[in-house]
Amino acid sequence: MNKYLLTPGPVPVSCETQLAEARPLIGHRGKEFSGLFSSIETKLSGLLKTDGKTVIFPASGTGALEALAANFIGPGVSVISVSCGVFGDRFREIAALTGADMINVDVEPGEGVKPHVAATAVASNPNASVLLLTQNETSTGVFNHIDEIVAAIPQEIKPLILVDGVSSVGAMPCFPQKWGIDGLATASQKGLLTPPGLAFVWLSERGWNAVSKRKCPSYYFDLVRQKKDLFKDAPENPYTPPVSLYYALDHALDEITDKGWFSLRDRAARSLAAGIEALGFELLVKDKRFRSPGVTAFFHPSGETDAILKSLKSMCVEPAGGQGKFKGNLIRMSHYHDVRWPEISLALGSLYAALGDARRGAGDFMRRAYEVWEAK
Ligand code: PMP
Repeated sequence: MNKYLLTPGPVPVSCETQLAEARPLIGHRGKEFSGLFSSIETKLSGLLKTDGKTVIFPASGTGALEALAANFIGPGVSVISVSCGVFGDRFREIAALTGADMINVDVEPGEGVKPHVAATAVASNPNASVLLLTQNETSTGVFNHIDEIVAAIPQEIKPLILVDGVSSVGAMPCFPQKWGIDGLATASQKGLLTPPGLAFVWLSERGWNAVSKRKCPSYYFDLVRQKKDLFKDAPENPYTPPVSLYYALDHALDEITDKGWFSLRDRAARSLAAGIEALGFELLVKDKRFRSPGVTAFFHPSGETDAILKSLKSMCVEPAGGQGKFKGNLIRMSHYHDVRWPEISLALGSLYAALGDARRGAGDFMRRAYEVWEAK
């Protein structure tokens, strides 16, 4: 039986994207592949609203974070890391492994990063040369307003801003050039609606200048080596690319660049959240402004969240559980793919069934969710 996958990556991909991935292979040194690569680059530039190019290589999101760390950070580099969850911590850990001097700022998981928190950290550490941020903290369903954070940072001492956009790009606005980000990392299997396996790194002009002056200790992740091939008239990769995934991505990007996609994701998130609350669950992220358009995290006050999750899974409805300190006590349901009212009602109906009589709230959850969906 097919599972209804609601994990925050991988996410369900459309039949058309699967068909595109199944196309016969072509060689990666030649006009046809360069054409495919250029088409993807044009669509990515449109999505990120940038005139720059994006490095693409086979890896997961962690590989993209590692690439940023290897190229920008090293022994003795002073790095500020602002983390509000498991993935902020991971970016920090990768940076620390390079031998950097870490300045760690922690925000309570479930809360978003307020601009003044990052701005104060930078003002108190004027010699820091790198700031690490996470746009969408997948472990808690927190969406951070990177544009506001970067704008709050004192410009005269602005460090290089490196952002984990692994679970944000594609599902919510992420405009690195406009916002003043210097390095952005993402991956294929969440907002980009493509199977896992592709990592992406975008750099600003300031970012490219910074990495050109350093010697990257990694051969595979050396962005300057990637740049040489990427910026050719007929772009190619220094190493063998997963051609089938390029076909899939080229198609998936057409689905995302449709007008209204970001607001549709946000609308689905709000409608689902309204139904979840009416069912008697509590949302982890209390402040609505920080709720992710890609993934919603919630728990049941009875303390039986894990039993409910197991029950959902037995129905072949498959969200993710909690991570870190929320292990065993959180459900994370994603809505990166084309979730509209039928999908929302399926998720809420299954939650209702999974709750069982003893835990069922009295709220008219379907009506509540539908009202929010209809209000747009
Ligand atoms: N950062 C964030 C925000 C993520 O959500 C994830 C994956 N859940 C990662 C990094 C790591 O990505 P991957 O599992 O693709 O290596």
